[in-house]
Amino acid sequence: MKGAVLYGPRDVRFEELDAPRIIKPTDAIIRISATCVCGSDLWPYRGISPITKPTPMGHEYCGIVEEVGSEVRNIRPGQFVIGSFFVSDNTCPHCRAGYQSSCEHRELIGGAQAPLLRVPLADGTLVATPEIPSDDLIPSLLALSDVMGTGWFAADAANVKPGKTVAVVGDGAVGLLGVLSASQMGAGRIIAMSRHEPRQKLAREFGATDIVIERADEGVSRIKELTKGIGADSVLECVGTQEAMMQAIRATRPGGCVGYVGVPHGVELDGQELFFAHVHLHGGPAPVRRFLPELIAMVWNGKIDPGKVFDLGLPLDQVAEGYRAMDERRAIKTLLWP
Ligand SMILES: [Zn+2]
Repeated sequence: MKGAVLYGPRDVRFEELDAPRIIKPTDAIIRISATCVCGSDLWPYRGISPITKPTPMGHEYCGIVEEVGSEVRNIRPGQFVIGSFFVSDNTCPHCRAGYQSSCEHRELIGGAQAPLLRVPLADGTLVATPEIPSDDLIPSLLALSDVMGTGWFAADAANVKPGKTVAVVGDGAVGLLGVLSASQMGAGRIIAMSRHEPRQKLAREFGATDIVIERADEGVSRIKELTKGIGADSVLECVGTQEAMMQAIRATRPGGCVGYVGVPHGVELDGQELFFAHVHLHGGPAPVRRFLPELIAMVWNGKIDPGKVFDLGLPLDQVAEGYRAMDERRAIKTLLWP
């Protein structure tokens, strides 16, 4: 089979790889129905997180189970399944507390930008849909594998509640789906921070009530203006830079909550500023597995359509163009069809 391999900065190749096979009795092999390029794939793609060897790419997936190991009990061949980018046993203390992305046996998925994928701990990781979905549902189901689950966690971690004021820092797929999540959780006002017109439009479709185009301290001032000088009750940080994190903390009211899901790169916090900010900080790699059953039901029932973040669809052999389009911000998110 052929899949995507990153060789170095801006060098993604579509090349021959060994097909994955069952290694442990708890594994499953999935035939990928659709995969995609993640905003976090751009960190190594841009050379900001350097790689040491050619690396098969991709950690977002959904598809049909092809084969399972001898100890897999709940998942069987023929089912359509979705899993998170972290595999989890779903039984250890951290999993039971709802933090499957800190599972004692977690492993990071890699190599999903290919026709076949090995998923360890299949019983704990994978969730099957009620039936085989129609093709039009596949983008939204794929989005649950990472970006929708991550946006949902950002809103959950930021304690979004009905009627509250929410601000979202970041207009990538996760930020936009953070807007959708806050809207589903009943937020009264959702301020999306974006200076890109197509993304502002999608943010509004997902439930944003206000758009702020200013960034950094100007963006904070604008949010303060919109909230009578108080700040937002909940702020979702969906970028991972110093500027975005400070923007999130400073835009939050005393006693409010920041949910941060952007993978931090060079973020440092000042203890005194944090002390006097009086905000709750909670975030990290989203425990997507916790939310999968609920989010699958919402997609299945037509309540949410997170697949709208895919504004570019390409056959998998054009994966290099998929990365370029996201790197140059010509696309919000690239869907890849094997
Ligand atoms: Zn666990």
